[in-house]
Amino acid sequence: MELFQSAKQRLGWDNKRFATVLILSLIILPASILLVTISRSSTFTGAGGFSITQILKGKFRQQELREHLASPPSVAPTPSPGFRTQQDSSNRNDEALLDGLLMSPEADEPSCLSRHQSYRKHSPHKPSSYLISKLRKYEDLHRQCGPGTKSYKRAIRKLTKLDRVDRDHSSSEEYCKYVIWLPANGLGNRMISIASTFLFALLTERVLLLHQRPDMEDLFCEPFPNSSWVLPVDKFPLQKEFWDEKDRHSHSIGSLMQNESSRGQASSYLFVNVNHGRYDGDNVFYCDRGQASIEKIPWLIMLSDQYYAPAFFVMKRFEKEVIKMFPEKQTVFHHLGRYLFHPSNQAWGLIKRFYRAYLEKADQRIGLQIRVFNPKTVPFQTVMDQILKCSSKENNILPKLDDAKPVGTSQSGNGTSSKAILAVSLYSEYYEHIKNMYWTKPTVEGDVIGVYQPSHEEYQKFGDNMHNMKAWAEISLLSTCDVLVTSAWSTFGYVAQGLGGLKPWILHKANDQNVPNPACVEDLSMEPCFHFPPTCDCDTDEKVDAGALVPYLRHCKDLNWGVKLVE
Ligand code: GDP
Repeated sequence: MELFQSAKQRLGWDNKRFATVLILSLIILPASILLVTISRSSTFTGAGGFSITQILKGKFRQQELREHLASPPSVAPTPSPGFRTQQDSSNRNDEALLDGLLMSPEADEPSCLSRHQSYRKHSPHKPSSYLISKLRKYEDLHRQCGPGTKSYKRAIRKLTKLDRVDRDHSSSEEYCKYVIWLPANGLGNRMISIASTFLFALLTERVLLLHQRPDMEDLFCEPFPNSSWVLPVDKFPLQKEFWDEKDRHSHSIGSLMQNESSRGQASSYLFVNVNHGRYDGDNVFYCDRGQASIEKIPWLIMLSDQYYAPAFFVMKRFEKEVIKMFPEKQTVFHHLGRYLFHPSNQAWGLIKRFYRAYLEKADQRIGLQIRVFNPKTVPFQTVMDQILKCSSKENNILPKLDDAKPVGTSQSGNGTSSKAILAVSLYSEYYEHIKNMYWTKPTVEGDVIGVYQPSHEEYQKFGDNMHNMKAWAEISLLSTCDVLVTSAWSTFGYVAQGLGGLKPWILHKANDQNVPNPACVEDLSMEPCFHFPPTCDCDTDEKVDAGALVPYLRHCKDLNWGVKLVE
């Protein structure tokens, strides 16, 4: 108050004039600051990731805005050496937007730090402009039809009609169409099937929604701007049917095709059970006639743990479109995975802390993914011998030990490079053994070797969110490596190689105490393997070899009845 009194006296104003000037300044000053800021940056972001221009244009409903503004503001990320951030990147736009895969680099920075601080190397594989345009179109569709929209509510109402069957065909109403993804198996399986289902959604103009069980909550950021890909399951009328096998099969694409009388009726929902090779007639999903019969059904519910994306490359209906999207065929998962799967802030914390502490400063990062499917029949020593045979004797992946020197002698070479070996496994023994090797003996080159393992969970846990969070962090860390050794059949490894754009060395599957010979093989491409492709011709029903249909689909090196996309 004293301050105001002396100002009044200095200016010689009366009380009324002083009050008027004071009030006007209190209104005009903040308003001008706001306008200047907006005009400087059209993407200036307020709390919760909404841009001020969007708010002023009334783009968001009040409730959404309230919810977002109520969430505590996040601390802005500080740039750190080795991490690509917007501040320190020279190719800022290209890199931050993954060469156009992502729409806006800044809109949601606080709510999804990983989208802006990726540690992976810039991919040499560019997405096609057609794929980019499909993604932008999809984002619009998802915004229009996603949960909470009028279109979504209308489509839900159609589902709640008594028998959910539109018998009179006279209805010409246009509905948004959806594909709901159901979770099955471990995280790797889930991620490859989400990516495949997203490709299906792109090809058929459906909206992808995930039934995320609690064990998957908060692993990933929302990939589609200003919308959600999470199915609001509590309010979804069919949730009981999801896990009732009888229901799933009586309302499946296979039953629809087998049952003549139901073919003419337009059901409002249908299951597609293409899980783990158990098709029970639902493999008609991989045929053009199956696709024609489900084209108009508003709700498809997909149960799959497979990487079924390669199937679209041999279906007449989709072939041209999918090749236009992915002229470089081995990049399907690479691009879709990098577009979809951004670690949530919590997962990003695990990744970033580990990466900075142990991997960032190394000149080379070597990832070993050791998945033992049957530890009871395959002993530790067999797997250990196999890893060393593959990575030291057959290939120069791990630094060579100087066996001529006695234990404890200092390094012979005067190498200055440092190598970080990331051992990822449910068990700790492999890490312990490798760490001990490099501690007790020098290497031939004299390089500095660090061996690290983020966790050893001992066994695969189901329904455990933190267990999945660690698995996701470890998959992401493997994807930052320069070279990868993975285990046959493992979808966990597939995701790491796909995201990292790496063609790994695959350890052959050992079945007993004998070390496979050779111990490993270089993979054909960075793509995941489709373990259970359809085996019958759609028209003749005769047996076909899915690996002999087109030159860019080959049998997988780790599983000879599976197929994968190659160049
Ligand atoms: P796959 O069984 O190897 O094809 O891979 P999935 O990811 O589908 O299922 C295996 C699950 O076991 C993972 O999702 C994890 O929950 C767990 N798991 C397997 N290996 C590892 C590992 O090396 N680290 C961690 N943290 N979890 C693992």
